[in-house]
Amino acid sequence: MNKLSKRSRFLAADLAFAAVFTLCGVLCALVYLYQSEAQTHQQSTIQLSIAKHDVAFFSHDIGLLMQDIDDNLKTLLDAAAHKPPQANTLRNALSNIPHLNSISLIDSQGKVITSTTAANVGRIIDFDASPVYPQASGDLLRIGPTYRGHDIADGIPLTDNAKSTPGHGFIPIIHTRLPEGNEQENTLVATLDLEYLLRRITNVPNVSATRIAVLRADGLRLFDTAATDIGLLLFERETVKRWQKGNLNDTKELTTEDSRHWIVADCLHPQLPIGVTWAVDHDGLLKDAVLKIQRNNMTIMLLMIIGMACMLFGYLFFRHTNRYQRERIARIEAQRSLLEGSLNACTSAIVITKPDGLIEWCNPAFSALTGYTAVEANGQYPSALSKSGKQDKAFYAHMWQTIRSGRIWRGELVNRRKDGSLYDELLTIAPALNSEGTIQHFIATKADFTQQKAARKELEIAHSHLNAVVENFPGSLVMEDLQSCIVLLNQNLFELLGLPGTEEYVLGKPVQPLMVFSSHIAENSQAFLDRIEELRAANHPSYGEEIHFKDGRWVERDFIPIRLHENLIGFLYIYRDISQRKRHARELWQLATSDPLTGIPNRRAFFESIEHERARLTRYSGEAAVLMIDIDHFKQINDTHGHAAGDAVLCHIVRQVRKLLRESDMLARLGGEEFAILLPQASREGAVGLAERVRKVLEENPLIYNDIPIHITASVGVTIMSHNDPNTDKTLSRADHALYEAKRNGRNRVEIN
Ligand code: GH3
Ligand code: MG
Ligand code: MG
Repeated sequence: MNKLSKRSRFLAADLAFAAVFTLCGVLCALVYLYQSEAQTHQQSTIQLSIAKHDVAFFSHDIGLLMQDIDDNLKTLLDAAAHKPPQANTLRNALSNIPHLNSISLIDSQGKVITSTTAANVGRIIDFDASPVYPQASGDLLRIGPTYRGHDIADGIPLTDNAKSTPGHGFIPIIHTRLPEGNEQENTLVATLDLEYLLRRITNVPNVSATRIAVLRADGLRLFDTAATDIGLLLFERETVKRWQKGNLNDTKELTTEDSRHWIVADCLHPQLPIGVTWAVDHDGLLKDAVLKIQRNNMTIMLLMIIGMACMLFGYLFFRHTNRYQRERIARIEAQRSLLEGSLNACTSAIVITKPDGLIEWCNPAFSALTGYTAVEANGQYPSALSKSGKQDKAFYAHMWQTIRSGRIWRGELVNRRKDGSLYDELLTIAPALNSEGTIQHFIATKADFTQQKAARKELEIAHSHLNAVVENFPGSLVMEDLQSCIVLLNQNLFELLGLPGTEEYVLGKPVQPLMVFSSHIAENSQAFLDRIEELRAANHPSYGEEIHFKDGRWVERDFIPIRLHENLIGFLYIYRDISQRKRHARELWQLATSDPLTGIPNRRAFFESIEHERARLTRYSGEAAVLMIDIDHFKQINDTHGHAAGDAVLCHIVRQVRKLLRESDMLARLGGEEFAILLPQASREGAVGLAERVRKVLEENPLIYNDIPIHITASVGVTIMSHNDPNTDKTLSRADHALYEAKRNGRNRVEIN
């Protein structure tokens, strides 16, 4: 509806403008036409007046010219009344009359006697062609026909109504002074330069005469400036008639038969029988004026068109600008309502204050949080509404200092609702600056932080518990996230790896340097790192992997991929120092497999070894030998020297036999005074040889016990173990049997089976 009315308003404005524009156009055209007409008329009047004035002026001018010539001739004739004038005298006179070509003295026959132009002398002027005009003074005056040529010397008379094209031409003016008394008759001829005359005519300013004709009083045309028009010719005839009647000048307008309109004027000088007729082309004269007016009017028209165009463009520009402004305002309005709508819909409380802190605007979430409506809050200071007294002055001072310096302030505080209840508030205040950097508003975003604060506290407690667990964990922990950064570790790890510093230095940092450091401590660095990569790639838990450190320690590692809601979030490494446990195990094993009296492997260890050897033989074939040794009459030694001596003998036996054995050979005490030797990779001869050497070394090396030599002999049963033996019992049984044979055959001897 609104849009429609706007559109119709603009349509009405367009129509109004179109009407005004058209009206202006019509007015301009009318003014133009009226102006053209009026100016043409005015110009016509002016031009007519000017033309008439010019004709009168020039006619008068010609008259003066003629008068001047005649006066000069008269003066010369006066001077020559008694003495014929010399050429010199004529030349002097001529120098004062520039419009004459020459002045000549002629005789009664018309022959030139003396002349300012030497060439004229002897030339004849035809008097017959020039009627006599008696003067009041009694003198006779004749006016030439027109001559073509520069002077009398080369002049040819033009009788054909002097259709002159002036060029070189002249009109002879013949003045005769009739003698009185003893005076002599003198006749002077002045040749009037047509070129000069024409120049004088055409130099009259502003006259655009179409045709000028100079006539003799009897109607002979001495020259004219244009071709003869029949209408004008009639006018000339009438003029001559008027002249003869004594009406010497007139001006009037004349329309000839060909409908050409003329301004015509004539003038005959009363002394000289020469007249001038003028014809000014009225239409031509006006045409120029009209052209001028039209040019001026065209300029005015052009200016009016430019004005109209400016008006049109101005209106279009105004319309465009108006439309642009409307669209801009609509956009701004849409943005404003979007922003206001968004702010109103925002679940965080938003307060906009003036730079001095007075509330200008707040959203519904603010009302929900504090209990104050927008009407109650606007114009109030936030502190006046919700100050709880839980924050000190320094707190607020710091807040104001921060936001007034143009920075954002964030903080937590306890505020009071309208109903007096307290709540924890998370407050952010951002200053809104204009383009000059001046603070225009403060935008405060508030959120009820009570629950979050409680949750955060719980989280902090949980976190501290976790930390305590981690720190108290009987082992070293390190956890990396999927970005290979350390997210968890405990101090034990530093102690295990001998790292300086505390966990804060490495938390959040990449785990790789720690891994590399650890690998350098491990006995096999590369294997350590490779295994880590393998474990990560496999992404399966791995427990109890043992790692041997270069310093001899043994460490057990558990690798556990950690998942949160089924999503892998990282890997946990647990390292435990198991060196002591290893040592205990080794000791236990030692105890279980060695003889406490002599320290050599016991029966159990021997049986394990012989089993291994049998398995080896089964795999790789070859041979091994087993020697069974029983001390002869040991009971007697005990009985004779005591049990302790017996023990000493047993240890002595071990020392003696060991000397004969290789590294790979194994001497074990099977029990009592029975020993066994396992000789891996031993031949039959080698085994017998060794048995013999054992027997011999014991026989030859009695134990000196309490300074008493105790002689020892032993019986040895030898057997060869091969892969064909189905089990070790079979082997041992053969060795036993050989020993038995040795005993049976008298002791202190070696038997092989
Ligand atoms: P023979 O083998 O030559 O037939 O005679 P014998 O005296 O060695 O016979 P017998 O194998 O029966 O005796 C073994 C004696 O070894 C019995 C026992 O008192 C003694 N005996 C066994 N173990 C130990 C021991 O650990 N220390 C001492 N001192 N005597 C032991
Ligand atoms: Mg025995
Ligand atoms: Mg014995």
